[in-house]
Amino acid sequence: MFEKVVAAPADPILGLTEAFRADARSHKINLGVGIYKDETGATPILHCVKKAEQKLLANEQTKNYLGIEGNLEYGRIVQQLLFGQHASLIASGRAKTAQAPGGTGALRIAAEFVVRNGLANTVWISDPTWANHVSVFQAAGLTVKWYKYYDAASKGLDFAAMQASLADAQAGDLVLLHGCCHNPTGIDPTSEQWRALAKQSAAAGWLPLFDFAYQGFARGIEEDAEGLRIFAECHEELLVASSFSKNFGLYNERVGAFTLVSASKEIADVAFTQVKTVIRANYSNPPSHGAAVVTTIVSDPALYAEWVAEVAAMRVRIREMRELLVAKLAERGVSQDFSFIRGQNGMFSFSGLSKEQVELLKREFAIYIVGSGRISVAGITRANIDPLCDAIAKVL
Ligand code: PMP
Repeated sequence: MFEKVVAAPADPILGLTEAFRADARSHKINLGVGIYKDETGATPILHCVKKAEQKLLANEQTKNYLGIEGNLEYGRIVQQLLFGQHASLIASGRAKTAQAPGGTGALRIAAEFVVRNGLANTVWISDPTWANHVSVFQAAGLTVKWYKYYDAASKGLDFAAMQASLADAQAGDLVLLHGCCHNPTGIDPTSEQWRALAKQSAAAGWLPLFDFAYQGFARGIEEDAEGLRIFAECHEELLVASSFSKNFGLYNERVGAFTLVSASKEIADVAFTQVKTVIRANYSNPPSHGAAVVTTIVSDPALYAEWVAEVAAMRVRIREMRELLVAKLAERGVSQDFSFIRGQNGMFSFSGLSKEQVELLKREFAIYIVGSGRISVAGITRANIDPLCDAIAKVL
């Protein structure tokens, strides 16, 4: 029967990685996939992670299954990172968290939970967004609608258009918001804009779903939760999909979390039984290791401090590369203004390079960038920035 199966199109980002691997040119540069790289081009294991792993290895007693919702201590830690250590919504039991296999797994739980319980059948996502959002939501049976976000002319957020397109969202519709470091644009709402959005959302009765995959990469662990915390103040109900792939460098351990906030502990407890049903039917219970690492780090003051410093180092390095990129392009006499790159958050920069320029960079210079012009700034180093800027200056 399998001969009837038609080939699926290659994943646009992972397909690019495959093409990069196959490229024999030694000077090739990969600015496609969103993984952090240090100054040497490596994706290192954080020191705090290594130490936590040593502790875990020495003390681990069993490989028994975790419960459906995973490690309970991890759930508490996730909530503290999201809402702040002393948040009243944690104390009141209004939030329930399930460990999930990565942010992707958490998004899928969110989508299936709302669909299966008849809560929403439409999700609103930003134009543009992380490509996998569409696939995950559609796979769960949601209808995807787009809200305006990026303004190509100003290379910024078109907030008026965003609010105007979201005015069509119906009460109960799921509205996906990037907690910080919007992927792919790197452009986040300001505090005032978050407040205005939260007000609009509460008035219209949206069900907000925060995708929080880069906490710590914009301004800091606490600072980056600002938008979510503003929403939490004026909503009784919201959902969060957390990912710790980037900020703990735990990409292949698949560690994330799904958090449900509801009006009361009683409602949260009942709703969570349905979350567990979704998980049970998907993968039964989560893998242990990544969440155990996160729990060990965050619950140990010394390791926590080390983690905060290591996230800051990643953030600062990316910021430095943004500054250098802007300065070095200007040095080459490029007339186009690239200063907007400085103001963007997180790993990515929506560079404004056209499809043709992206193609030329690949063909002529072995520089790999996603077709939309999204550059993974985390892939730039002091060693590759000069050839990169030379090439960009040539294709402009
Ligand atoms: N959401 C966004 C916006 C992302 O960029 C990513 C990772 N690229 C994810 C979710 C998924 O993260 P994970 O690898 O933990 O599944």
